[in-house]
Amino acid sequence: MAARTLFEKVWAAHEVLPETPDTPAVLYVDLHLIHEVTSPQAFSALKSLGLPVRRPERTLATMDHSTPTRTEQVFGAVPITLDAAARQVLQLERNCAEFGVELFGMRDARRGIVHVIGPELGATLPGMTIVCGDSHTSTHGAFGALAFGIGSTEVGHVLATQCLLQRKPKTFAVNVEGELPAGVTAKDLILAIIGRVGVSGGTGHVIEYRGSSIRALSMEQRMTVCNMSIEAGARAGMIAPDDTTFAYLKGRPRAPRGAGWDAAVARWRGFTTDAGAVFDASVDIDAGRLEPMITYGTNPGMVVPISAPIPDGTGDAAHDKALGYMGFHGGDALLGKPVNVVFIGSCTNGRLEDLKAAAQILKGRKVAPGVHLLIVPGSQQVKREAEEAGLDEIFKAAGADWRESGCSMCLGMNGDTVAAGQYSVSTSNRNFEGRQGVGARTLLASPLTAAASAVRGRITDPRALL
Ligand code: SF4
Repeated sequence: MAARTLFEKVWAAHEVLPETPDTPAVLYVDLHLIHEVTSPQAFSALKSLGLPVRRPERTLATMDHSTPTRTEQVFGAVPITLDAAARQVLQLERNCAEFGVELFGMRDARRGIVHVIGPELGATLPGMTIVCGDSHTSTHGAFGALAFGIGSTEVGHVLATQCLLQRKPKTFAVNVEGELPAGVTAKDLILAIIGRVGVSGGTGHVIEYRGSSIRALSMEQRMTVCNMSIEAGARAGMIAPDDTTFAYLKGRPRAPRGAGWDAAVARWRGFTTDAGAVFDASVDIDAGRLEPMITYGTNPGMVVPISAPIPDGTGDAAHDKALGYMGFHGGDALLGKPVNVVFIGSCTNGRLEDLKAAAQILKGRKVAPGVHLLIVPGSQQVKREAEEAGLDEIFKAAGADWRESGCSMCLGMNGDTVAAGQYSVSTSNRNFEGRQGVGARTLLASPLTAAASAVRGRITDPRALL
């Protein structure tokens, strides 16, 4: 058999029918993750057609996008203040009960952001196909799964058939060699990759992140990298599973056990790219030369090393419009620009390692006057682990706002928003116009940069505070 890439192996193992010039392939889905925002229409379609959920045991529901993060609204007697959010939560509860789908409801100890709970439960496993009605499903590719976001109509299709119609993507190797310098994180690496590839450079491809730098990353760091694959335009991002992957998964509630574990690991070891396999595209990155990165515009490709000036006007209308929205001028330094809000959380950087990184900066320091630092764990498990480690005390002593889990300020639909015109340094994944609230100005960065900027009240190179 010809040498194959990791992606090609996972695809082949799930191809029910190959594509033809006229029809897409039929792809079997191992795990379908759903949440309250992109599932209501899909369940309505099932009801109107009188169809059941085809494989409820391969479907898992959580609440994250529109759920509040204030403790009194999650565990207290205060109702959800946003009507739309309250309706979506209620509808998901009803739909899951009616169709027999397992749901981690508002007060469930396992609830959290859909891309955080899959891995932490061991529901996300190497070699799987995983879909969800959220673009950042690519996160799960860190385990060697083929994972990607789908639309509401496709959510209904997968609920009804456990399959998906897909054109086979091309392959793209991102080769990263060298050691990340101190203060430079996985978030900086993926921002640098997007800056290099561009926001549409990966279009039609599945990226495989490869090389010594990727092998050296923890699973949480690998998830941060794969999470933002979509921001380079890619369909998905993947990393071949290895001993780091297996060590992370072993003993997780839904991972195989006993003899089943050994058999699974033996099978998972085959999910690597064969020597001599050919990629359709590739790029090489030298990790040792990277700096902390930060965005200055309105897509994640508008990104520079934190010490660099904002790129000068290029005459490019999109660039000029972005700088106009951000209130920035080409040639200005980003370092030292004032900040109003700092958000540490999301499926990109809301895991325990991210919170520990932020605590490293915040310990013994105070948030600058006038800055709102919001820290939101990616799941209730992350929250418990952070509190067991005493991180919440460090955050609260610094003056931060410590919340229940959820998507929070990643997107402005749950009550956690940035006011018009305000500057937000955010560890999330999108800096689109209005993403964090109408008129909000978002700068994407790592948890280290976010925490350092909260302390100084200005955009700050975290290496100055390490
Ligand atoms: S944190 Fe943001 S990107 Fe992640 S699942 Fe929630 S809304 Fe989507």
